[in-house]
Amino acid sequence: APTRLDAYRAPAWRVETVELAFDLAIDTTEVTARLRLRCDPTQTQPLRLDGENLELLSIALDGTALAADAYRYANNVLEIDGARDGSVLETRVRLRPAANTALEGLYLSGSAEAGFLLTQCEAEGFRHITFFPDRPDVQALYTVTLRADRDRFPVLLAGGNPDGAGELDDGRHWARFVDPHPKPGYLFAVVAGRLQSIERDYLTADGRAVTLKIWAEADVIDRCDYAMDALERAMRWDERTYGRNYDLDVFHVVATHDFNMGAMENKGLNIFNAKYLLADPGSSTDDEYRHVESVIAHEYFHNWSGNRVTCRDWFQLSLKEGLTVFREQSFSADMNSAPLKRIEDVSLLRRAQFPEDAGPLAHPVRPAQYSEINNFYTATVYEKGAELVRMLAGRLGREGFRRGMDLYFARNDGKAATLEDFLAALGEANHTDLGPYLAWYAQAGTPRLQARGEYDEARRSYALTLRQHTPATASQAQTHPLPIPVKLALFDRDGRMMPLHMDAQTSKAATETVVVLDTDESTFVFHDVPSAPVPSLLRGFSAPVILECDYDAAELALLLRHDPDGFNRWEAGQQLATLAYAELRDGAPGHALDAWLGALSDLFARGEVEQALLANLLTPPTEVEWAEREARVDPARIHALRQQLQRQLAERIGAEALQQRYRTLAGEASAALDAASQAQRRLKQRVLELLCLIAPDVAQPLAAAQYDSAPGMTDRLGALAVLLRSDAPQAAAARAHYRQRHADNALALDKWFTVQAQVPGEAALDRVLMLERDPAFTLKNPNRVQSLLGAFVRANPSGFHRADGAGYRFLAERLVQLDALNPQVAARLATAFNGWQRLEPGRRQAARAVIEDVADRDGLSRNLREIVANVLKQ
Ligand code: ZN
Repeated sequence: APTRLDAYRAPAWRVETVELAFDLAIDTTEVTARLRLRCDPTQTQPLRLDGENLELLSIALDGTALAADAYRYANNVLEIDGARDGSVLETRVRLRPAANTALEGLYLSGSAEAGFLLTQCEAEGFRHITFFPDRPDVQALYTVTLRADRDRFPVLLAGGNPDGAGELDDGRHWARFVDPHPKPGYLFAVVAGRLQSIERDYLTADGRAVTLKIWAEADVIDRCDYAMDALERAMRWDERTYGRNYDLDVFHVVATHDFNMGAMENKGLNIFNAKYLLADPGSSTDDEYRHVESVIAHEYFHNWSGNRVTCRDWFQLSLKEGLTVFREQSFSADMNSAPLKRIEDVSLLRRAQFPEDAGPLAHPVRPAQYSEINNFYTATVYEKGAELVRMLAGRLGREGFRRGMDLYFARNDGKAATLEDFLAALGEANHTDLGPYLAWYAQAGTPRLQARGEYDEARRSYALTLRQHTPATASQAQTHPLPIPVKLALFDRDGRMMPLHMDAQTSKAATETVVVLDTDESTFVFHDVPSAPVPSLLRGFSAPVILECDYDAAELALLLRHDPDGFNRWEAGQQLATLAYAELRDGAPGHALDAWLGALSDLFARGEVEQALLANLLTPPTEVEWAEREARVDPARIHALRQQLQRQLAERIGAEALQQRYRTLAGEASAALDAASQAQRRLKQRVLELLCLIAPDVAQPLAAAQYDSAPGMTDRLGALAVLLRSDAPQAAAARAHYRQRHADNALALDKWFTVQAQVPGEAALDRVLMLERDPAFTLKNPNRVQSLLGAFVRANPSGFHRADGAGYRFLAERLVQLDALNPQVAARLATAFNGWQRLEPGRRQAARAVIEDVADRDGLSRNLREIVANVLKQ
């Protein structure tokens, strides 16, 4: 039966202290746990502990071994008779880390000979390590002792502060860690093996001396320096921006190649997918450098938003994830270009979250029920959740939000909180009722915002009517209006912003304001408007909605040419490109196409737009975004139309101009990481891609030369992508060269799989099948699976959605294989079937048959079963 939000009950039993002792080895590890239990003496619930795949070796209560009839272990619950408030329970269990392919609980990274042991506990992995009330509202004080063979496991780490280490008999040694902060089991972690480290001293703003250590295997330890710098920046930023200081004497970060997700914020011992920690110019792209910086920051920021204040239950997941994503977004915006960061985040939201909200997997940011919590680490909980925090922060203003956050942390420190607690603190600190925003957390689906403007020439007034409507979703038939903050400006026909005068405003007129639509429909009137304006709405993407405004092409082109705000300029271009796309689709190229081409070719020629922004302006919305807008999706056709649109753009700019710009940009090639160098590489890549669409005979030799002389990975991988996608004669050699050059670098090899899996078109599946036969391919490594299968099913719509349904059959087969190894990875991959209901009839039939076939299989994991069942909902 699914777990339901409204069925929450406070725990009957709590744990005050935990003493854990590990006797670590690769094949079998034994864990002893001593729990001091607390309960309200008047309550009558028996003691029940969670435990999965545990081999129980011994059990004692208050010092006495329990008789066989005094406890029962069934269905992953251990029930014990006779426990009282203050009782001490001692259990000893055996684990099998090397056999743990699900990578949840204690497992082995790498080979049995050379690899190391580590844990992943969020959300419910701790119960795979010991018997425990495995829920985030049970917070305890941890003492952890690790014992192992010194040669095989020279490094022993756990969360908290080090509290002694020493020798044992038989070449074994031990180390102890004590965490002074109470924490839930999901934040527990240990790591043991042969690891190297880099370290740095750090003094917090409030005067604590901290040792920062980053750990990795010997062959990659020289790629950790960038992460260390990023960590220091993140720590300083959180001190400055939120007054949050680190709170232990050590902060450990560990890199592993075997990890189900991005990274994990275990208290004092963050564990990272190597993909988000390692970086060096020879093998990391510019995008990857930025990802490392943002994930390092994200996990570090969790120390307050997640660890010091944690979640009452997993329905509140966005309390820590949405908030922490928002904090990371603000940090990255401060470290890099703010408009570019916003563009990246909004396009991610549209690519990953809007489809979730629009299909059978739709769920509110605070879901009402789940059967497998791992399936709810979604773009909705993370990315839409961050948008909700952004709306609140915008509403309160910088200082008001800081006041609210201070109160939130002060009130809930050491506690397990709810989203209500969060809104209450933000509101009360500002004498405001934010209660209405709670509705955003409870309602799935992306609101549609309709805007209509009317100019009254005689009165010199402009009336903007806003209406909202949220379509019903599979889980909710009834939807309600939400508070939608709409940031806006009005432009005159020369592209200048107008001063805004509204009834309610007495202060000096600004050129930008925010109106809040909190009913179905409302009209906002602006006075003293000298001429019919062009509205720029939802500036900075002030709410996660779909704007339906009957802008005409000329109005969008005006914003694209003149809006001083980089984000909105990009947004106008995206909307204009979408109109142009619709014209092409309907076989009627017209004003929009012409306006888009005209504005972009001018901006290209004039060269006054910053390079990275220009690269983004020259990129139309993704195929996934356009598929979202259609009722009978034909991915091959969308791909062809998008190519056609880009070809027209390239032609309008002109092969000559593109080539010249390419040569100028290529002349400055370097591996430097500063923003200007990154921007230059990004624009160069876009120019090369456009050129290749209309003049492959010119572009391919340029790409081949770029591949050969690339000073860094961004240029090398970019060139390889162009060669592969245009089926260039030079492609095979570059492909083989890359394979060999990076044979020993897993992350670089992942990109080799990905770049090939993403080559669009009907031939993609055969290429993927061929790549699966590469000796480096394995279903056992999540990064490798993502790099080939994930890239194919998620980022190659025209390839995956092959008209004959072969892509679907392929995915189904792999899902079943993967599910037996790693249910979390299988379930995540299965979400690629989301949206099949809106495919054109042929593909729809094919997809449905395949998904129903998977659903009918016996023995699926709870993870995969839930996704497949949900995806099938009409
Ligand atoms: Zn997180």
